[in-house]
Amino acid sequence: MTFTRPDWAEVSRGRLLHNYRWLRELAGLRDSPQRAGSPGTPSDELVAVVKANAYGHGRAGCASVLAGEGAGWFGVTSVEEAVSLRQVCPGARILAMSGLWHGEAEAVLARGITPAVWEPLHLELLVEAAQRRGSGAGTVPVHLEIDTGMSRQGVPPGELERRLEAFGAGSPLRLEAVMTHFHSAEDREATQAQMRVFAAAVEGIVGRGLRPEFLSAGSSASVLQQDTEDVTNLARRIGARRMVRVGLGLYGYAPSPARQGGAGLLPVLAWKSRVTSLREIEAGAVAGYDATFRAERRTRLALVPVGYADGLSRRLSNCGCMLVRGQRAAIAGRISMDQTMLDVTEIPGVAIGDEVVLIGEQGGESISAADLAQQTGTISYEVLCAIGARVPRVMVD
Ligand SMILES: *Cc1c(COP(=O)(O)O)cnc(C)c1O
Repeated sequence: MTFTRPDWAEVSRGRLLHNYRWLRELAGLRDSPQRAGSPGTPSDELVAVVKANAYGHGRAGCASVLAGEGAGWFGVTSVEEAVSLRQVCPGARILAMSGLWHGEAEAVLARGITPAVWEPLHLELLVEAAQRRGSGAGTVPVHLEIDTGMSRQGVPPGELERRLEAFGAGSPLRLEAVMTHFHSAEDREATQAQMRVFAAAVEGIVGRGLRPEFLSAGSSASVLQQDTEDVTNLARRIGARRMVRVGLGLYGYAPSPARQGGAGLLPVLAWKSRVTSLREIEAGAVAGYDATFRAERRTRLALVPVGYADGLSRRLSNCGCMLVRGQRAAIAGRISMDQTMLDVTEIPGVAIGDEVVLIGEQGGESISAADLAQQTGTISYEVLCAIGARVPRVMVD
């Protein structure tokens, strides 16, 4: 695809692979995925989470790169995302992590998508669709989520017994994994409390004669802190394999900015634009909507064709900056829907066509998604996901 408007995001293939390999190693998955699973040693799995358009990085591009590296499992949010991913990853396992909805069970079966399930509705929709297709017993793998304390998704432990009835003899459903999600993966005590609830649920499941192949728990934070031992031990005890679901780390960020420094993670995305217009305004003149910027001296302003409709937070008005000619240029005035102005008075030689970096590196300077998150009171996840659909993603190196 070609694009002409100078507003694009470069996604580094090399950095994505670096982060993927590094996280696998940190998670204790040193074998390449293809070689894992030698007889007798159950191999653990890493699910590469590419939900929300791969955290804004472009789902198809990122998943293809990781599939080329042997990634066997991908995590997305919805069946819609899973169906779209199936077109680029015909052979991979695809986990739809937020259940399924009316009208989606057929696609789950037809495209070999693996849903996380917890509501009776999820089980009913799948069983009905399986009956319509004449699917045999145990042919529809599902990952049963347990609510161990996050109270967002999952079967409340008190309802588990009843939910397991759907996996009786002759059921088309196969309990491939039991999963849970930690609400404060960086807090060891909170996670251990959730693990105790998880362990009790898993024991109950095994006690009913069900044999899940995987126990799925943990995210980037768990891997970065190397806090996956409890899940591993529980899995070993019941003869299952451990599965960990990693998203943000793949894209080069630690969930908590405090841990970014120590992590061997490289930010994958660079968001760039170009100077498309320049002007000088006199002292006392104002710039932008609501005249929130007033020149204190003769001021040179550069126009960048990126605004809040591209996902650049309007909260950065008069406080954020971008890189031009290897230097930081302050955002002058309100960010508009499609445009932003920079004060380049102190940066000599700025010319129309100069590259502008919103996220990334230029010269010795850098601005990260974590920096923007800090300035706008949010998390790097949101900054990355907010980059708009009209900003083309271009794979580089
Ligand atoms: C998003 C998500 C993950 C990945 O979390 P990161 O912090 O990005 O690694 C794992 N599991 C579930 C259920 C998720 O929704």
